[in-house]
Amino acid sequence: MAISAERQRLLTLRQQIHAANAAYYQGLATGYTDAEFDALLVELEQLEAAHPDWISPDSPTQGVGSDLTGRGFVAARHTLPMLSLGNTYSEEELRAFDRRLVRLLGGAVHGYVCELKIDGVALSLHYRNGELRQAITRGDGREGDDVTLNVRTIAAIPPWIAAAPAELEVRGEVYLPLAAFARMNQRRSAEGEEPLANPRNATAGTLKTLDPREVARRPLAFFAYEALDAGAAGATHHQTLARLAAYGFPVESHHARCADLDACIAYCRRWHDERRALDYLTDGVVVKVDDPHQRAAAGTTAKSPRWAIAFKFPPDRAVTKVERIEVQVGRTGKLTPVAHLTPVELAGTTVSRATLHNQDEIDRKGVRVGDRVEIEKAGEIIPQVVAVLDPDRPDRGKRFVIPSHCPACDGAVARDPDGVAHRCVNIHCPAQREAVILHFASRRAMDIAGLGPALVEQLLGAGLIHDYADLFTLAAQRAAVAALERMGERSTDNLLAAIEQAKQRPFARLLYALGIRFVGEKTAYLLAAALPSLDALASADETTLLAIPEVGPVIAESIRRFFADPANQALLDRLCQAGVRAEASAAAEVAVAQTLANLTFVLTGTLSRPRDEVACWIRARGGRTTAAVSKKTDYVVCGDAPGSKRDRAIALGVPLLSEAQLTALATPE
Ligand SMILES: [Zn+2]
Repeated sequence: MAISAERQRLLTLRQQIHAANAAYYQGLATGYTDAEFDALLVELEQLEAAHPDWISPDSPTQGVGSDLTGRGFVAARHTLPMLSLGNTYSEEELRAFDRRLVRLLGGAVHGYVCELKIDGVALSLHYRNGELRQAITRGDGREGDDVTLNVRTIAAIPPWIAAAPAELEVRGEVYLPLAAFARMNQRRSAEGEEPLANPRNATAGTLKTLDPREVARRPLAFFAYEALDAGAAGATHHQTLARLAAYGFPVESHHARCADLDACIAYCRRWHDERRALDYLTDGVVVKVDDPHQRAAAGTTAKSPRWAIAFKFPPDRAVTKVERIEVQVGRTGKLTPVAHLTPVELAGTTVSRATLHNQDEIDRKGVRVGDRVEIEKAGEIIPQVVAVLDPDRPDRGKRFVIPSHCPACDGAVARDPDGVAHRCVNIHCPAQREAVILHFASRRAMDIAGLGPALVEQLLGAGLIHDYADLFTLAAQRAAVAALERMGERSTDNLLAAIEQAKQRPFARLLYALGIRFVGEKTAYLLAAALPSLDALASADETTLLAIPEVGPVIAESIRRFFADPANQALLDRLCQAGVRAEASAAAEVAVAQTLANLTFVLTGTLSRPRDEVACWIRARGGRTTAAVSKKTDYVVCGDAPGSKRDRAIALGVPLLSEAQLTALATPE
């Protein structure tokens, strides 16, 4: 049954209003003015008034848009079990799979379809009369979690399909593109948070989060790979994939029809290496019988279909030796043990270090100096030690224990009361000092171009600076700076000019730059809005701080401790004397966080505002817009009825964003 244009508009309006509501109740910008938002709501009400039978309990007009957070997940039963696939790890096992089928079918298989196996989270989507009604995770295969509300914020999953069958179930994989994953981890480490382990865990965690704001902020993507409806029963698998693409689902573009098993094996060999160029993780190839009659004849076992199998790529692993274990001290004083390895080639790069995370992780894996270890790396993931290969050898070294004194300053080390991290508690620790200065100068803080790790180390080593306030005295020591290794007249002038410019940064960026623990970019903006000067902040009591949005007891305590420290007070006095802007000014209020810096966007479809206006809004936040989609495009923003640019983005693996997701992306953390 075809879905009418009015009905399509209604569903699009509901998606836009749900997303804006979610943002609003989280204290975020909705991307709409009040008038624009009201206009959307009025349009929806008019459509529902004209079609009373279209009113449904989950429509935003029925007043349930506000309680999205805090709602648990309800278990939902799969209409057909979501079976898992049998795994094979060798070409010989693949051939055995083919021989088994030939025996079962009494003749050759009429061709296979090979698809890349996306390392994400399997999802089942139910459409009724063309509308997305329910999204369920795999769960135990019989029943999973109903994650419909979160899935409704994913732009790559269409809220409606034109000309779809009355009942349609689509299965596929939700995943997080590697570039987005890398950006998430950069942001987390800038704020002193643990990086996320891998994109699959980040995807699973996001889908199950009870905070739709988080879902909207992480640009989850989707590939469809199966349709379960009457239309699929008589179609070959590659016809089904083409139909899914025609419905508007992203379908992984590298799938191929293979005449026989030799062609499948050639496909597997080819993608073993070529997958590294993709923007998503694949852990193998799924080989499926193409002919629906042969599928039916082969049938399924209780656990998995007999007509499909997963060929798993061997993980990128290598064996090397732990030469020593060093402890690094981060900006927040966190001690991270790092294994220094005999350099080894792995997935196209030379690996010489692997993080050991913390004491618990070291104990769990039993890593000691001198051990032969297996290490693993995939995509953007930090190399990890998987296992110790010779734990029983004689004369093995001692168990590694994180030192009780900081390797940089010999200060006391304490374990976090509620965590696994060990921390140097000396706030004047030199190792923390270098990291603190680098954070102060970083692009989204004071943005001092040219002040990188090597230069900060030199400046500290030469005694030219001791903390970030000293940066503003460098102009008076110009000759000494110019005499440093790899510096010269020109780069010294550039550095001093960048430091001079940094004095005029908006107050919120100074607050972020100070490196107060738990004060990330977003908190800094909220603080600056409520208490627009250093004096106001320094004298704020706990009650005042707790009244600020998103500031809880932990952040309030951290702020108060920072300003109460006499050493910090002296530091701030010197910043003010140097002429650094220490209060919000009218000009600074207007300044917008450059949250989209270095990102390239393409806009398609009908947006809630004129396209020029959206482009201008993106530019004001440091981003760029271009007309055509290419490999260099970071995101394609899709409005209503998106055109061929959306298809091109899917083909190139460029992530899609809804307007609400764009707004979330642009909102400082
Ligand atoms: Zn220390």
